[in-house]
Amino acid sequence: AKVQGRGILRFSSPGMTTRAKERLSLEADLRLALDQGELSLHYQPQVDLISGQIVGLEALARWQHPTRGMVSPAAFIPLAEECGLIVNLGHWALQSACRQIRVWTDAGLAPRQIAVNVSAVQLSRGDLLESVRLALKESGISPDQLELEITESFVMADRDRSFKAIADLKALGVRLSIDDFGTGYSSLAYLQQLEVDKLKVDISFVRDMTRNSGNASIVKAVIALGHSLGLEIIAEGVEEAGQARYLRSLSCDVMQGYLISKPLPAEEMTCFLHAFAPQ
Ligand code: C2E
Ligand code: CA
Ligand code: CA
Ligand code: CA
Repeated sequence: AKVQGRGILRFSSPGMTTRAKERLSLEADLRLALDQGELSLHYQPQVDLISGQIVGLEALARWQHPTRGMVSPAAFIPLAEECGLIVNLGHWALQSACRQIRVWTDAGLAPRQIAVNVSAVQLSRGDLLESVRLALKESGISPDQLELEITESFVMADRDRSFKAIADLKALGVRLSIDDFGTGYSSLAYLQQLEVDKLKVDISFVRDMTRNSGNASIVKAVIALGHSLGLEIIAEGVEEAGQARYLRSLSCDVMQGYLISKPLPAEEMTCFLHAFAPQ
């Protein structure tokens, strides 16, 4: 198939399904989106369950498509991973987040760290270490202001390579957390060998933990396991005050979710940080 850009007829073979054509067109648009500045990062606060302070922000990619409107990262990130575009997109995300940390640091508004999601494909098909090094150097931020959220698939895809990468990243001084913890297939035995700082309890366990005793047990177990390994625990997808109270009673450290704020564009987050800052 030949791709000539947006609005121009694209050739596709007659056997292609509508779905496949749709994917191809979205992929072509995504390539342009990076160059044309249609992607941005939104930021969602992470709040300490004891002090109530904002201790972190997670950067989440957004794509404002000229005709499709807002395209969800749940749709375009997997696509970017399949076609390898995630290497460029991932570098863009690291670079933009680090620049924003610089801006907030200079304004005295930066929380302890900003978390950026990192795909296993950035490791297998790109030079993740170099990408992180560049973003840190260009922005001049302190490495411990940057946290990388990796998933269990990042760890399990190529074990030797990922262990080496994690050690190299730790040597740079960045922080690491395991995202969506409990949904993958990694062995618990590896957890103690991995030099990560934090576990993120997946949203699916948090969602109905106050009503579903099975999910509550999983959340409790993850918190106990993480703490016994000296890791910080953050719960994502916290929407209700009752969930926050329950998490605090379980000694969970940090929460993130719509209860505090949905992810906001950088300018709106600046106002939010001003309003939240201790007087
Ligand atoms: P994730 O890393 O697990 O991010 C959490 C998702 O939950 C985000 O969806 C966030 O907006 C949403 N969320 C936050 N609080 C709540 C809540 O209280 N309730 C509910 N129902 N949802 C909440 P989002 O922004 O649509 O991102 C989806 C996924 O796309 C992310 O899941 C992450 O895996 C991926 N992603 C986003 N940005 C990037 C990026 O820059 N790089 C990579 N590799 N992946 C990204
Ligand atoms: Ca994440
Ligand atoms: Ca997650
Ligand atoms: Ca997720």
